[in-house]
Amino acid sequence: MPPTKDVDEKATDHLVEKYIEENDVMIFSKSWCPYCTKIKNALKSAKIEFYSIELDKMAEGDDIQEALIKKTEQETVPNIFIKQQHIGGCDKTLAALKSGRVAALLSPPEPEAKHQKLEDDALDSYDYDLIVIGGGSGGLACSKEARSFGKKVCVLDFVKATPIGTTWGLGGTCVNVGCIPKKLMHQAALIGEYAQDATDYGWAQLEQARQHNWSKMIESIQMYIRSLNFKYRVDLRSKGVVYENSYGEFVSSHRLKVCACLITDKKGQSKEITGEKIVVAVGGRPKYPDIEGDKQYGITSDDLFSLKYDPGKTIVVGASYVALECAGFLHGIGREVQVFVRSILLRGFDQQMASKIGDYMSAIGIKFSHQTVPIRLECLEEGKPGKLRLHYRQTLESGEVKESYEDCNTVLFAIGREACTNELHMDKIGLDLKKANGYKIKTREEQSTQIPWLYAIGDCIDDDTMPPGQPLELTPVAIQAGQLLARRLFSNSSLKMNYYNVATTVFTPIEYGAIGYSEEDALSKFGEENIEIFHSEFVPLEWSICHHREQVKNMSYCKLIVEKKTDRVIGFHVLAPNAGEITQGYAVGMRLGATKADFDMTVGIHPTCSENITTLSVTKSSGESATQEGC
Ligand code: FAD
Ligand code: NDP
Repeated sequence: MPPTKDVDEKATDHLVEKYIEENDVMIFSKSWCPYCTKIKNALKSAKIEFYSIELDKMAEGDDIQEALIKKTEQETVPNIFIKQQHIGGCDKTLAALKSGRVAALLSPPEPEAKHQKLEDDALDSYDYDLIVIGGGSGGLACSKEARSFGKKVCVLDFVKATPIGTTWGLGGTCVNVGCIPKKLMHQAALIGEYAQDATDYGWAQLEQARQHNWSKMIESIQMYIRSLNFKYRVDLRSKGVVYENSYGEFVSSHRLKVCACLITDKKGQSKEITGEKIVVAVGGRPKYPDIEGDKQYGITSDDLFSLKYDPGKTIVVGASYVALECAGFLHGIGREVQVFVRSILLRGFDQQMASKIGDYMSAIGIKFSHQTVPIRLECLEEGKPGKLRLHYRQTLESGEVKESYEDCNTVLFAIGREACTNELHMDKIGLDLKKANGYKIKTREEQSTQIPWLYAIGDCIDDDTMPPGQPLELTPVAIQAGQLLARRLFSNSSLKMNYYNVATTVFTPIEYGAIGYSEEDALSKFGEENIEIFHSEFVPLEWSICHHREQVKNMSYCKLIVEKKTDRVIGFHVLAPNAGEITQGYAVGMRLGATKADFDMTVGIHPTCSENITTLSVTKSSGESATQEGC
């Protein structure tokens, strides 16, 4: 059930309370307000650290202001709290500064017993200024940035083999078993489609190009990945970051045991190192469904991108990012694919867009089994690939539950990922982990934890300041959070990660780019009467003369969700070829708070798919057809 307005108000009140609780000096500000600038400058001169948010730059800024008025009866900004006490605006805070009240409020309270103990454990000197556990997107970015400020930095990275023995080099998920090989395989599939387009463009039959060679693709991609692994190692060395190809786990405060070999504690194979600050950037690994035969016969995306043999007919279990992308490219390179969907496609995304993706994938020949969960995996015949039988349970539309099986060569489990925190022994440093997608580390928006010297970034965190329901497990998010953290820790920066309006793209056979609110979330947050949705169905020009695209050529679509009161575009969605490339540029506009009028005044580039987003005039509420004809 969508949350009611009351629930929303409560969530905003809660958010305001959190800002106030978590920041000794909290300023609710607006970027254009001269009084906000004045008080910030005064605090900076007094060397008083503060945290501020710019309400005019945040989607929920108006709601926060309303919550503040309710709480303080002050209608203006800046609205300032010190040690949870409401001080007032600029003048009152200046007066409090002058009278010494601010200093008195900020004089440190008695430390809590727990933190007292941790401080007792603090060492006189450390091996490193910073140790980063995990050499993936976030960890590498953070360690190199910290090193650029002259700090002594060590990064630990170790990959545990998958159940079938797959392992890889430095760089983490993105480069080895995520974004990079995924995008290259997506490209392999697109090339197959272009080969089919070719005939209509006058090229001789390119049917040969449809004979796809799995081993050749894997060889090319893996060679490229190995070159990146090498480049990362050289880069760390040349920058002076110490890299240990070792697994790290906590022994006590500031102290880690690092093991080059996992099987053992034998003397000589592990050592201890200490860091004044430690950043956990351990990422996540795919989950298995915990059914008979899953780990023995099934694979995950961690295995697929370097699989030595052609996977053949593949059943993909799961219906989110990883599942749909893998299903898409496997089909695109000519393999038979069936997707087992437990509930809905792309949970957390705009469901109209998700269902359009499902329609597109079905139209090109990918089979979907809805309301289906695997219950047992058995091997009928060993081989590479062998023959497998996946037993499943399906709930039919009538409500009847049937059990059956499907035979295939490969079963790919893409049912989500778990943070790799369970073997870090965090209990030894007194950290509570939250049970969400594995045990994620609870962080505040400055990536700090409840332990003063410990920070966490990337896929392994659960940060309250992320938009609800969107874990934002994305490479650029991990990288930016890591770099900003290093700058705050070791330079004078106070810039924090902003998790709102992060653009993302799902690389399904037709790509889907999104920024900001989904239609469902916008409706439940703002109310139907307060938003307008502009949309259009269009044919990518380059597809218009391709016979094999006949069934799908009308399926490109874009929509903008607009808040009526401010005319601000709060949701951007596009389903089109190259949606990733299209979406990135618009993300700048969304970040700057672009209005629908700004989109309309932007002159399109003709003829492109992207120009459709600058000419949207049909609203959903009008009920008019969204189908575009011709130019
Ligand atoms: P990781 O990159 O996972 O790095 C963590 C590293 O720490 C790993 O090398 C791990 O082995 C190591 N480690 C773990 N525990 C320890 C320990 N105790 N000691 C030492 N080392 C340890 N994101 C996008 O933005 N775009 C995409 O197109 C995209 N596609 C994806 C496709 C797939 C199939 C997958 C699985 C993910 C994709 N992602 C994509 C998500 C992206 O890969 C992750 O968000 C990103 O890699 C997270 O970075 P990280 O630094 O948090 O962790
Ligand atoms: P998600 O957690 O997003 O989705 C898991 C999927 O598996 C859901 O469809 C879920 O169904 C289904 N599922 C879970 N358990 C079972 C089960 N026991 N049996 C059957 N189905 C099950 O995971 P992903 O691995 O797809 O993605 C992880 C993260 O990686 C994403 O959040 C994303 O940030 C990142 N990523 C980014 C990409 C990009 O930027 N292009 C690409 C790939 C990944 P249900 O809805 O019913 O729960």
